[in-house]
Amino acid sequence: MSETIAAAPGSPAVPQATQILEITVIGTPAGQGALSNKGGGRMVHSNHAVLMPWRAAITQAAIRALGTHQRVRVKRQPNCRICGKPNRRHGVISQGPVAVQMVVTVERSEAAAKRGDLWPDNSTTSDADHHARSVLDALCNGSVYADDGQVVVLETTKVFSVTPVPDTLPRPGAVIRVWKIGVPAA
Ligand SMILES: [Zn+2]
Repeated sequence: MSETIAAAPGSPAVPQATQILEITVIGTPAGQGALSNKGGGRMVHSNHAVLMPWRAAITQAAIRALGTHQRVRVKRQPNCRICGKPNRRHGVISQGPVAVQMVVTVERSEAAAKRGDLWPDNSTTSDADHHARSVLDALCNGSVYADDGQVVVLETTKVFSVTPVPDTLPRPGAVIRVWKIGVPAA
C-alpha cells in the first residue's frame, strides 16, 4: 500500500517568508564535502570534475532567473569588480535570514532499479547534507544571498524520479526555492 507523502513544497516553516527564487536545474547532482589533499596543503573537492559543472549549472540558472551576476572577487578588494558592491552584501537578499528548500533527483542505478528501491537511501549516492552544501554555495555564487550563513531554514529532499513525493524530476537535477524571511533592518 503506497501513499503520496505531502511534503508541502513552497512553504518553509517560518512566518513572513517571501519567495525570491524558484529554479529547476537539469544536470548530475554532486554533493560537496569530501576533500583531497593535492599536496602542499592544497585541498580540492575529491569529486571536483562533477561538482564544478553542477554548481555552475545552479549558479547560471539563478543568475538568469534573477538578472544578477556572479560576484567577481579580486584579492584584497572588498568590492565586486563588476558592480562595485561590497562582497559581504553581494546578493539579491543582501542581508537577513533566508530559507532554502531543495528536492534533488539523483540517478537511479540499475541495481537500485532491479531491487525496486523507491528512495536513494544508501551510500551509493551522496548524503543529503552534502547535496545541500553544493546547492547553497552555488546559490551564493549566483548572488542570491551574500553569505551561506544567512540560511536559517534548510529543507533537503533526496529522491529518485520514481520517489512518490512532489517535485521529483524525470531525470537527474533539482528543484530549488529560496525565501527571504521577515522584514530586513534598514
Ligand atoms: Zn557585482
